[in-house]
Parts: sequence; C-alpha cells; structure tokens
Amino acid sequence: MYRRLVLFDVDGTLITDRGAARQAYETALHEVYGYSGDLRRYDFSGRTDPQITHMVLGDAGLSSGDIDSRMPALWERYLAALARNATADRVHALPGIPKLLESLSARPDVMLALLTGNIEPGARLKLAPPALNGYFPFGAFGSDSPRREELPPIAVERASQIDGHRFRGRDVVIIGDSIYDVRCGTPHDATTIAIASGKTSAETLQAEGPHYFFHSAEDLDAVLGAILSPPV
Ligand SMILES: [Mg+2]
Repeated sequence: MYRRLVLFDVDGTLITDRGAARQAYETALHEVYGYSGDLRRYDFSGRTDPQITHMVLGDAGLSSGDIDSRMPALWERYLAALARNATADRVHALPGIPKLLESLSARPDVMLALLTGNIEPGARLKLAPPALNGYFPFGAFGSDSPRREELPPIAVERASQIDGHRFRGRDVVIIGDSIYDVRCGTPHDATTIAIASGKTSAETLQAEGPHYFFHSAEDLDAVLGAILSPPV
C-alpha cells in the first residue's frame, strides 16, 4: 500500500473567513501594541502568525525584543476576538473541499494533517464553523515555528508518533494557495499542490513551479489523482 501524508493549509485553501481573522488580529494589535496602521497593504498569504507580527510591527519601528515580549498577550486578545468573529455566516469551506476531505478521510492509505502559519488555537477556531476540525487530528502550526519551511518535518514527526510510519520525500503532499506553501515543501522534496483559491493569482502560483496546479478543489477526480498518483 502506497501511503501519503497529506498536509493542508488553512486560509485560502480549506476556508475563507470574510476578513474575520484579519479584523480580530487588527483589534489585538491595537490593544496590545497600540498599533493603528493600515493592514490592507499587506498580503499575509502563506506567512506564519509570528512572522506577520514581526513584519508589521517591525515596519512600525518596534524592536524585535519588544514584539516578542508582548506576543503572548497578543495571541490572548487575538483568540478572544477571533472566537467572537469566526461565525458560521463568515467562515466557509472553499468549493470542493468538503467532498475532497470526505474522500481522503475514507482512504486507509492517506493520513490527513494541517500545515499552516496559524497558531494552533486560531486554526481550530477557523475550522470549527464549517466542521472541518474532525478531519485533522494533528498538524504543524505557526505556534510550532515562525518559519514555514520548518513545519513539514514537524508534521512528519507527529505522524510517526501516531502510527509509527515515517513519511518521506514525495509521500508528503503539501496543499496550499500561496507561493510559501510550495516553497516550504521544496527543501524536503515533498509533492506540492497549489490551488488558486486564495489571494495569490494563478500566474504567480504556476510560476513557483508546484508539481500540480489547480484553479479550485472542485475537480475532485483530478485533485485526488494528483494526491494519490505515484511520486513525480
Ligand atoms: Mg493560505
């Protein structure tokens, strides 16, 4: 049996939240750091929560030490605001995702997990309204490392702790909507699948050279084929 560890990004890949998280984050940045800049000029796609925080507050002139020392307070406020914002009328699974997850979770040769820049409790709050948490018993998160390229080995290690199988190289499939999803897989020789269901254009994603590219997850057979076909 050929086995796959399939790692899904959250924002723009599994779900869209109509700005719920960005608004919560803006509120928390203001409360904790007094930040009042305009976040709209930033594209957060594919970046980890700690990385985004250093980028935004570094631009505003704060020192790295100052940013880090108040980060626990930031996450506390952010999660409180996100819990209020991440409601069923705002957070939705992206087209094709529920069927894809249903198909994959029924297969004994596939293990599902998350690979996301979200801190874990943030990811869990976002996945709750469309009821997707149940598909993902574990994952690697922005709360594990601010560097996305360090997350695939963390997911592989957690998978091996759960069922004793160590996934390697192309058996690890990374699915995401940003260039950083593709880039974090390359040094680990993972299979990369880019889906243009987020903010990044199809052209930009294709130029990054993922193994597979799709405009959405709606073409179930094609996406399943890419995930399950032998290593390229
Ligand atoms: Mg994303």
